Amino acid sequence: MASVYIETFGCQMNEADSRYIAERARALGYAIAASPEAANVVVLNTCTVRDSAERRAYGRMNHFNALKRRNPDVRLVVMGCLAEQDRDRMQRVAPHVDAIFGTRELRRLADQLAAWESGFAPGSGEPAEGDIRDEMLPFALGGTADGVDDAFSRLRAFVTVQRGCSYYCTFCIVPHVRGRFDHRARAEIVEEARRRIEDGAREVMLVGQTVNAWRDAGSGEDFGDLCREVAALEGLERLTFISPHPKDFTPKILDALAAIPALNPRIHLPLQSGSDAVLRKMNRKYTLAQFQEKVEMIRRRLPRCAITTDLIVGFPGESEADFAATLQYVRSGIFANAFTFIYSVRRGTPAARWEQVPREVALERFQRLADAQNAITRAYHDGHCGSVVRALIVGDSKKDADRIAAKTIQNVTVVARKPLGYSAERYAETPWLDVRIETAHVWGCAGTLVGRARRFDGEAGAVAAPALDLTALAI
Ligand code: SF4
Repeated sequence: MASVYIETFGCQMNEADSRYIAERARALGYAIAASPEAANVVVLNTCTVRDSAERRAYGRMNHFNALKRRNPDVRLVVMGCLAEQDRDRMQRVAPHVDAIFGTRELRRLADQLAAWESGFAPGSGEPAEGDIRDEMLPFALGGTADGVDDAFSRLRAFVTVQRGCSYYCTFCIVPHVRGRFDHRARAEIVEEARRRIEDGAREVMLVGQTVNAWRDAGSGEDFGDLCREVAALEGLERLTFISPHPKDFTPKILDALAAIPALNPRIHLPLQSGSDAVLRKMNRKYTLAQFQEKVEMIRRRLPRCAITTDLIVGFPGESEADFAATLQYVRSGIFANAFTFIYSVRRGTPAARWEQVPREVALERFQRLADAQNAITRAYHDGHCGSVVRALIVGDSKKDADRIAAKTIQNVTVVARKPLGYSAERYAETPWLDVRIETAHVWGCAGTLVGRARRFDGEAGAVAAPALDLTALAI
């Protein structure tokens, strides 16, 4: 059986695209490989939102060249935003890449997989004796294996509601590589969500670049209507979405969201800057006061909702006073968590042509902002200590295979030591973990597993004691 390995960089939109390709590949008869060395086709789904993502993707292409040298029959495919933007350059600097597909060519990629499928010799995707693992650096450059069937992959479903964006923020490459808004029809989205729930999804995440701008072209229904309809699907346990644009939250949409008990109490609301002058230059279409109004609209309807954000430091022209406005707003403690970035020049965007903030100035501001937000995030996580939280299992903790990681409905990472007799298959059946939180960190919380449940609102059963406790007793 032919096999495909998919490695993904970037946002949830790319993850959703990778899962679509994995689903199409499976339907064509491919197995999903857990490593590039075990695959006939290696797909690299790229991101270009920051310079570092671009460099990592090219680095990964170079590493995959070792695979091609070892086995010329392996097909190497590059897809995603960098493929869309850099097709010509990529063909020049990475001639070992067999095929390049832009963000609007997913169907063509699936057709190509179909054309290749019968041409692979049986067993050719198996790693050979003394395989090239040593020559490769799996995952060292930051991609994640996607579409890999682990016991937990079906628990969360990313359902794309919209492609592209028409807002043209001056720092952003998305409208240039993914095109203008293209909203999927309501019936198609609801049907996909229904299918995913039937396949075992406990949580559905609706994904779009500005997800709350979604509209059904036929009926004119808005994002709130869509969420209500998805939430009404039988078997759905939790609903979430990413990423909304502050300007597109209307009272009507928020009223609809507030009436959905299954909605996760976390809204990611990208601010980018606290300075009106910078927001204007960014073409963000709101002022800080208007952003704050949206925060208050959310708080009135969803008082327990965690608000998280994205922030950019060192945008062209950002003065110390502009930065101070961002810092002051962040220090007010509004955000439970924030993804903070140093502005990265994106070729083809207006901001790339503007005078840049010196790197050392941007770095110093970044550190001050990160310190301020980290203290707030840590305090938010501290608030969980002593309580028992329910969280949906993700899998092994990335840093310690003796621990399992899970996400709360506020998107907080929690880790706990695996209990005696832990089995991924059994935990996939009862994936809601009750964890008593003992320590808080910037990245999340750690604690002890005290129960697990089949459903989010179900009663938890007991779990065995963690292996470490017994070891500790023996010592
Ligand atoms: S809203 Fe702005 S930042 Fe978000 S995808 Fe559109 S152009 Fe990019």
